[in-house]
Amino acid sequence: MFDKILIANRGEIACRVIKTCRRLGIKTVAVYSDADDGALHMRMADEAVHIGAAAAAESYLVIEKIVAACKATGAQAVHPGYGFLSENRKFAAALKEAGIAFIGPNPDAIYAMGDKIESKKLAKQAGVSTVPGYLGAIGGTDEAVKIATEIGFPVMIKASAGGGGKGMRIARSADEVAQGFSSATNEAKNSFGDDRVFIEKYIEQPRHIEIQVLGDKHGNVIYLGERECSIQRRHQKVVEEAPSSFLDEATRKAMGEQAVALSKTVNYDSAGTVEFIVGPDRSFYFLEMNTRLQVEHPVTELITGIDLVEQMIRVAANEKLAIKQDDVKLDGWAVEVRIYAEDPVRGFLPSTGRLARWRTAEESKVIRNDTGVVEGSEISMFYDPMISKLCSWGKDRAQAIETLSAALDETWIAGIGHNVNFLSAVLDHPRFRSGDISTNFIAEEWPNGYAGTVLPEERQNSALAVATLIHIRNELRARHLGGKLGLPEWVPGEEWIAILNKREYKLSVSDAEGGCDVKVGKGKALKVRSGWKPGEPFFRGTVNGATVVARVSARPDGVRVVHGGAELDVAVRTPRAAELARLMPEKLPPDMSKYLLCPMPGLVVSIAVADGEAVKAGQALAVVEAMKMENVLRAERDGTVKKVNAKKGDSLAVDQVILEFA
Ligand code: ADP
Repeated sequence: MFDKILIANRGEIACRVIKTCRRLGIKTVAVYSDADDGALHMRMADEAVHIGAAAAAESYLVIEKIVAACKATGAQAVHPGYGFLSENRKFAAALKEAGIAFIGPNPDAIYAMGDKIESKKLAKQAGVSTVPGYLGAIGGTDEAVKIATEIGFPVMIKASAGGGGKGMRIARSADEVAQGFSSATNEAKNSFGDDRVFIEKYIEQPRHIEIQVLGDKHGNVIYLGERECSIQRRHQKVVEEAPSSFLDEATRKAMGEQAVALSKTVNYDSAGTVEFIVGPDRSFYFLEMNTRLQVEHPVTELITGIDLVEQMIRVAANEKLAIKQDDVKLDGWAVEVRIYAEDPVRGFLPSTGRLARWRTAEESKVIRNDTGVVEGSEISMFYDPMISKLCSWGKDRAQAIETLSAALDETWIAGIGHNVNFLSAVLDHPRFRSGDISTNFIAEEWPNGYAGTVLPEERQNSALAVATLIHIRNELRARHLGGKLGLPEWVPGEEWIAILNKREYKLSVSDAEGGCDVKVGKGKALKVRSGWKPGEPFFRGTVNGATVVARVSARPDGVRVVHGGAELDVAVRTPRAAELARLMPEKLPPDMSKYLLCPMPGLVVSIAVADGEAVKAGQALAVVEAMKMENVLRAERDGTVKKVNAKKGDSLAVDQVILEFA
């Protein structure tokens, strides 16, 4: 066994690998870039080596620097995590040459599975069912149309070297094939330096279900059940679970055995994942094999009790797998959500900055929080903006979802945009709860994007009741502090009015031991009980006996209650105060339609217009780069540019004015 391992990665996955090493008594070496100086992974490791500038191409992706760091520290093995060099055959080979073990599969297996066309051919040979399609080189648009017509619409055009959902197009007609073929080819060339694309049948309403495999260097390969990752946004996973609510025992076994067969043809000798797309009739087809630890591996660990990183380390050290196929038992259910620094209400644009607040449910037997940042950490524009993978375990699916949903209620992130409310909305969605999901779930349920969550009436009423108790406690404290401030004496049984989103709700409130009873409108009394005290950021209590957790904060005009993904700004008033408030002029937000604002923090790549220029709706005005993606900002309507405020090379904050219209 190794006694020192270097982790060639950063963030949550580096921290996660370090945890297992610690448990096994193995010393760890972290590597870090300029942007990660002082980062959690660096502090958790026994040693840390600086490997260069912030840009990954100058640090985490430089093979020589990682090899040099191993030599300098005497690390005998490298765990690559995911992304960066994890599926880079040259890296695995360079380590081998330097006499350092690579904690991952052999370079030939990485190579064989690295290309979608080649791996599909291998899969076919191994008797694995693959999506019907054409795997040869495609000469041009005409040929692409001909092939697509033969396969039958709809089809999917995919980059062979693709990854991360890039270079993929769905086409439902000859025209769309022509368009998709050229755009997928261009995207593939630009993103991967390889313009080969192929065409396969597009499976309608598919589910993404993948099999975790584990092999050693002695010819043993087993499978550890499946993970369902159908909740995706633009082909990127958002929520994952294990097992899948869709598989029966026979399909699970068939998929597992095919995954093992494919792994054996490439002498697979580490943890890996065979991805399948599954049709509504449970027909399944091989998509690709990922020759690394997957982001979503925790859900498998939670239901099998197997530490995949430990297994990877052991097999890299030449140990035989100690687990046999029959030993693998799936216990209960696990769900994972990916908490990202992004802005769901702004089309999920990445958000960067300092994490002023970062708290979530405490880790326990049923909660796992894989994170690489702490309160005060910076989410930079250089890397993947993931904050955490929050996972839950339950004895069944409903319980696991319930636990995770409650954990999201206990999550508090401030300083940057985040998707916690959106994740709550997904977990609480009746269709998600029913298990009737496909990879189109998000696109179908939020066709116009996410604009915030509206709670069902019952839950909203209990949030109003919570807001009422908070109001009472705040008032009582104010009276206590102020002594003679002349606040009206609170009379139990009083009629009050709650104002939420400009709507008024009649409340009848009565005092009760440990809380109060609140009737909203003509509804039944809700018994709110809690030890909450003014100033506490979380309300923890019960409403009619059921646990309710909500994040609360004071607003100039009431209280904000964040619960179930909804942000409710509630003002509780006496009828007289409500009456007077109705007479107050409404405060309107300033009209910003005359400005082009920067939608995310980023760098101005170019400005396409000048002062005084007339523009048409849809015309490109500026290009802003954020998270390595170029975003074209267009005119929403016809108009004239009055003044351009930004220039190429400027680094802009969110909502900074780029230009002003006349
Ligand atoms: P990447 O390597 O870019 O992640 P994948 O081949 O793994 O690409 O596919 C990513 C996602 O795209 C899948 O999870 C699925 O949602 C969708 N997808 C891929 N191929 C098909 C197909 N033939 N039919 C339907 N959906 C597909």
